Amino acid sequence: MAKKTTLKPVKAVAKAVATMARVAKKGTAKVTAPAKKGTARVAASVKKPAPRAKKHVFFFGNGKADGDRTMRDTLGGKGSGLAEMTNAGLPVPPGFTISTDVCSVYYAEKGRIPASIEAEIAENLRKLEKAAGATLGSNENPLLVSVRSGAKFSMPGMMDTILNLGLNDQAVDGLKRRTQNGRFAFDSYRRFIQMFGNVVLEIPKDAFEHELDAVKKARGTAQDTDLDETALREVVDRYKKIVRTRASRDFPQDPHEQLRMSRDAVFRSWMNPRAQEYRRIYDIPDHIGTAVNVQMMVFGNTGDRSATGVGFTRNPATGAKEFYGEFLVNAQGEDVVAGIRTPQPISELEKVMPKAYRELREITTRLEKHYKDVQDFEFTIQDERLFMLQTRNGKRTGYAAVVIATDLVAEKLITPKDAILQIDPEALSQLLSPGFDPKEWRAIPVATKGLPASPGAASGHVVFSADEAVKWADQGKPVILVRRETVPDDIHGMFVSQGILTATGGMTSHAAVVGRQMGKPSIVGAGDLEINEAARQFSVNGQTVKEGDFVSFDGLTGEVKLARVASKPSEILQVVNRQLPEDQSDIYRRFNQILTWSDKFRRMGIRANADQPDQSEMAYGFGARGIGLCRTEHMFFGEGRIPIVQRMILADNEPDRRKALAELLPMQRGDFYGVFKAMHGEPVTIRTIDPPLHEFLPKREELMVEIAKLETRQDSSEELEKKLALLRRVEQLHEFNPMLGHRGVRLGITYPEITEMQTRAILEAACQLAKEGLKVTPEIMIPLVGHVKELRDQKAIVDRVAADVMKEQGVKVNYLVGTMIEVPRGAMTADQIAQEAQFFSFGTNDLTQLTFGFSRDDIGKFLRIYQDKKILDKDPFATFDTDGVGPLVRMAVDLGRRARPDIKLGVCGEHGGDPASIHFFEKVGLNYVSCSPYRVPVARLAAAQAALSVRVGD
Ligand code: ADP
Ligand code: MG
Ligand code: MG
Repeated sequence: MAKKTTLKPVKAVAKAVATMARVAKKGTAKVTAPAKKGTARVAASVKKPAPRAKKHVFFFGNGKADGDRTMRDTLGGKGSGLAEMTNAGLPVPPGFTISTDVCSVYYAEKGRIPASIEAEIAENLRKLEKAAGATLGSNENPLLVSVRSGAKFSMPGMMDTILNLGLNDQAVDGLKRRTQNGRFAFDSYRRFIQMFGNVVLEIPKDAFEHELDAVKKARGTAQDTDLDETALREVVDRYKKIVRTRASRDFPQDPHEQLRMSRDAVFRSWMNPRAQEYRRIYDIPDHIGTAVNVQMMVFGNTGDRSATGVGFTRNPATGAKEFYGEFLVNAQGEDVVAGIRTPQPISELEKVMPKAYRELREITTRLEKHYKDVQDFEFTIQDERLFMLQTRNGKRTGYAAVVIATDLVAEKLITPKDAILQIDPEALSQLLSPGFDPKEWRAIPVATKGLPASPGAASGHVVFSADEAVKWADQGKPVILVRRETVPDDIHGMFVSQGILTATGGMTSHAAVVGRQMGKPSIVGAGDLEINEAARQFSVNGQTVKEGDFVSFDGLTGEVKLARVASKPSEILQVVNRQLPEDQSDIYRRFNQILTWSDKFRRMGIRANADQPDQSEMAYGFGARGIGLCRTEHMFFGEGRIPIVQRMILADNEPDRRKALAELLPMQRGDFYGVFKAMHGEPVTIRTIDPPLHEFLPKREELMVEIAKLETRQDSSEELEKKLALLRRVEQLHEFNPMLGHRGVRLGITYPEITEMQTRAILEAACQLAKEGLKVTPEIMIPLVGHVKELRDQKAIVDRVAADVMKEQGVKVNYLVGTMIEVPRGAMTADQIAQEAQFFSFGTNDLTQLTFGFSRDDIGKFLRIYQDKKILDKDPFATFDTDGVGPLVRMAVDLGRRARPDIKLGVCGEHGGDPASIHFFEKVGLNYVSCSPYRVPVARLAAAQAALSVRVGD
């Protein structure tokens, strides 16, 4: 979204305040966030404006800090890291952190900071001036500071930082005199005006870039670093003019005013659209707010003995144990990640500044040991002196997460339990994403190579803007977002893309960081790409690629090819499907290790929702021990079955219907036999027919078209008759609300012969296996029960048929009869239902649908607006609504257990594979969760995390 071009801070505050107020209104309810960061995010309580006496500002400096690593809620991630590093005696420029509470106060007070907090800030500023030996606003010896945002969860590039604050027309001369370096002084000043102008006065960056480019052009230089003092003075003058015309005011010369305005701008940036979008994607609550860090500046732009850089203690793409990062000599902060100059790999630093390099290695190694996790750090070297500016647990790809966690355990830095809590369960699902077939991939020539920022195979249509990406993706087309460099505003486009490809930037550029975090294959810095975003095309080594053309790339090698390439299953999937021996896959071994550890800690069982033997086999391979939902209707769509199913539906008398059912019987028996066998004797829950019957018939409109066509032909009377009969039946079956219509148990009640056939098929398969020596326990599940008498009716049929079959077959098998709890009435009367049901499986999809009254097929039309207006945080069909639907589940669990203490309880809705929802199911004490086969690894890990971080009964 484009920034406003005129100065309207007041309006901006008003808007943000209104939104925050809505958020705050939500009251003090616990907000449950998924365990993306291990356990830390399970429950964060809503913050209320703090009482007077509370401390709001926390100092760090001179080897001592008011805060520490445990205070991330109050200080934000950056502030707590700075405090912790200060306490550890590391070289950190002194400063202070204005707490996240103040952010809430700022919004509650409609953009004003109360005098008591202003006084606390002033007091800390004096302390900082003393520590720094310089004064804010002094012309001779000016204190310069950075104003840095920092929320509890890092949001790379989402909010804004201002450097060199404290400079004005006089102080810049003082800085020059004191450092004997005019170039440096004016470079710092022009950067400050640019950042302040953009962040605080909301003037678009381009306006400044444009002036800088003009000066560079006039001097015939390419790099910022080539500009001398005179040139930079001119840049400063031009920037000040830009401020005057764009913001209708002069650039503020009073450093105290600069500081207040910058602080408020950081608070405002919390509610900017891209930050909100980011929080939505990563499930970060809006109400937690950001802290503001005010810190003495150190300078990487004083000359060739200075530098600035960022790095990781291990490779965040592959997990390899290697020092990893980038730096730029004679540069400041954002230069490295902004992709303006291409940075050097950090290994080069050893050559140019060996002492600082050695110290950096030593410090970061210590930090990794201290935090027991990979550190992502930022540093600046001023005249060969190293300063640490940030450290945090590094974001990483799913692949790296698994490699790093298993390595850290092997190095005895952490325990298996720590490893489990450290890995985002989604990482495991990333590991299952496909790659290219190596042979096919090799056969296509390489168009160019870039930096391999985030692994994975990506193939899709080229688009050149985030908005286009969304447009194409909405049409179901795979897209590759190609940009010169990405900016935080692109986040929505990156989210929907198969992969991200940029022409500039290094391994720590925005595209790289965000790509890795999203698990999107990404290549950055593919310098051969000449991108013309306006013309929507790029050229590379003489070939032109237009919007919509196909591009494929491999994010692990950095190779880009101009073709559409099909991808193939991941290495892990190959092992699971026995196409690759286990001992040939290092990543499988690690993946399996994580899951084996998880199994030791989890309480809940993990089952899969699977309908076919091959799916069941795969689910078993992923570690599912049982099927929680086998949807029999999916089997009706199998090869050659639909005509029989249609005959059954079209029958207008019972004998005809039974005839069709008799034909389906052996097919269903075969299906069940296969599924039982694939589950190696683990329990299998089979649901009797559920959807409205019209789903098996052609659509009314299509039939009418066909009939119209047949009517124009002479020789088609017989076919025409058939179609007309079909149309009549379709019209008879038409329902206004099919999801609330003739479906689920209601079908079994009106057509008992269907339940009979399905029971027979299930029991015959089980008996056959029993004779072959495999003991299986079918669990027959009746859907959509709201009244105990519905279940009683069906159970009588099941028991009767089962007894018949066992007598015929001369074997006995154990089976259970139970029901789904998915209709609110079923949950409310669960004690009565439990008289009949031996198990409950919560069908949370329908239960959510029926509790909210939201049709899950139509929610897409308004969900986004609900989220924008903060009515709903999350899609309740993806993340279980613990507040509203949760009580029904709790009630049904209680009533069910009271009536039948050994009742088996599980969940088979989509939520069964969602980590945040799994935490809730752990709390209510379900026996198992069931999810799609691919989610099984995620569920195993999430269930272990849940068991380690919440208690049954909470
Ligand atoms: P982000 O959260 O976007 O990373 P930061 O607040 O970390 O923003 O600031 C970005 C960069 O600005 C830092 O990596 C660092 O290089 C530079 N920076 C911030 N504060 C200072 C400071 N006090 N002295 C020198 N450089 C700073
Ligand atoms: Mg930073
Ligand atoms: Mg249902």
